[in-house]
Amino acid sequence: MADQNFLNEVSKRRTFAIISHPDAGKTTITEKLLLLGQLIQTAGSVKGRKGDKHATSDWMAMEKQRGISITSSVMQFPYKDCTVNLLDTPGHEDFSEDTYRTLTAVDSVLMIIDGAKGVEDRTIKLMEVCRLRDTPILTFINKMDRDIRDPIDLLDEVEAVLKIVAAPITWPIGMSHFFKGVYNLYTDTIHVFVRGRGHTLMDDIRIEGLQSDAAKELLGDDWDAYVDEIELVRGASHEFNLEAYLAGKLTPVFFGTALSNFGVREMLDGFVEWAPSPIDRETNGRTVPAVEEKFSGFIFKIQANMDPKHRDRIAFMRVCSGTYSRGMKMRHCRIGKDIKVTDAVSFTAGDREGVEEAFSGDIIGLHNHGTIQIGDTFTEGEDLKFTGIPHFAPELFRRVRLKDPMKMKALQKGLQQLSEEGSTQLFMPQRNNELIVGAVGQLQYEVVAYRLKDEYKVECIYEAVNVNTARWVECDDPKKFDEFKNKCRDNLAIDGGGHLTYLAPTRVNLMMAEEKWPQVRFRSTREH
Ligand code: GDP
Repeated sequence: MADQNFLNEVSKRRTFAIISHPDAGKTTITEKLLLLGQLIQTAGSVKGRKGDKHATSDWMAMEKQRGISITSSVMQFPYKDCTVNLLDTPGHEDFSEDTYRTLTAVDSVLMIIDGAKGVEDRTIKLMEVCRLRDTPILTFINKMDRDIRDPIDLLDEVEAVLKIVAAPITWPIGMSHFFKGVYNLYTDTIHVFVRGRGHTLMDDIRIEGLQSDAAKELLGDDWDAYVDEIELVRGASHEFNLEAYLAGKLTPVFFGTALSNFGVREMLDGFVEWAPSPIDRETNGRTVPAVEEKFSGFIFKIQANMDPKHRDRIAFMRVCSGTYSRGMKMRHCRIGKDIKVTDAVSFTAGDREGVEEAFSGDIIGLHNHGTIQIGDTFTEGEDLKFTGIPHFAPELFRRVRLKDPMKMKALQKGLQQLSEEGSTQLFMPQRNNELIVGAVGQLQYEVVAYRLKDEYKVECIYEAVNVNTARWVECDDPKKFDEFKNKCRDNLAIDGGGHLTYLAPTRVNLMMAEEKWPQVRFRSTREH
């Protein structure tokens, strides 16, 4: 029998990420969640509204300059009886790989939709990723203080475009200047909107009953029409169903305005009530139940130099089962070594602190001295590997040249370490000693150049290189593989993780190679 205290801790955990299109309000809502979780006292400490675009989770100078969130961090806060872990995801689409992997480490997501814009591109893409794992999705329709689109149209769009059943939980009363609050369709309660209270915690002003005198007073002449609207909404929309939500087939929908800090509390209440506690996870050998007492976890992200004061690298681990306790021994399964961990950290709104204990569902940071890679599994001794953490073949390639040739060592080290983080990949061709950086998006090159300069003090130049695509190669027949390696030497490279890769100058070249070497598998994704 598992220890009751442990089981309680696990059932309290809610580990999630926010998916949205840039500008929908992810940062603003994060801030309000931290306010509700009492992690911060006033809003504005996450990201200054004007000019100084700076958030607790956006700590890199470059992010400040560009106002984008490049790297993700983790925030833990208590709410009601729960311990909530919010994993921040990079906002810019070039960083999708990092986002995908973060989504493998959560148990559910919150989808934010800008009420004026509806379902946008990036949300569609991220939703596809969630669907691969049937991740439960809760929806918040934001910016009710503006002129938004007809809420019924918005729900229709969610259903049609995202192919998920939408079940409204709250319904807005008016919008823009006439926005008066939201009505909870299940509790028959009106939550009254008070303007201009976005920066601190707001009182929860409620009116019980749409038929009450107070409701009639609040709605005035619009009361009759609103009662009709609610009838219509109840008739035309789907009812909430917990099982369908947990299966990723239905999304409960809340309305509000993150900027004015309204509707967020109602949403968070629904979230902690319905969102799943840590789910069981697949490995190559067996399913690991989240309530199993033996510790296990996997690395979904590596972040170099998180804090310029420390200049180290942190590997982010999702604890999948059991308890981490300070000083414990864990097995690093890929290299088959037992290590004693005394200095794992936890993350609270950007601050890191030493952690004594962590449970299934929590995220802890391990100091990485170069032995930890994305996808690595850690256990209490059993040899396991968590599956489903993807690595995608890059689509862009550049040769890196140094401005100062004396700094080759620093360059190699920098590129190697940055590629361990997983947003770029390093390839070292076998026929020469060039360094080729592969990326999924253009912006990553700028980030790499910036960080090489800032953190490793090397300046580099990118040059075009004749590579169109890359494939990881494998073969079960060692003799054939040797023959392949000999014949194709000019196209082969070793990637940052030591894997053999085929660099194809053109698609046609790749097709021909695949035809010529049927025994060799050319893989466009690699599991970490
Ligand atoms: P992110 O890119 O998704 O992180 O979006 P931000 O949180 O940075 O918000 C983008 C812009 O929308 C900012 O200027 C916010 O002030 C604004 N915004 C966010 N929520 C609301 C809201 O509820 N109402 C209004 N009017 N503006 C909002």
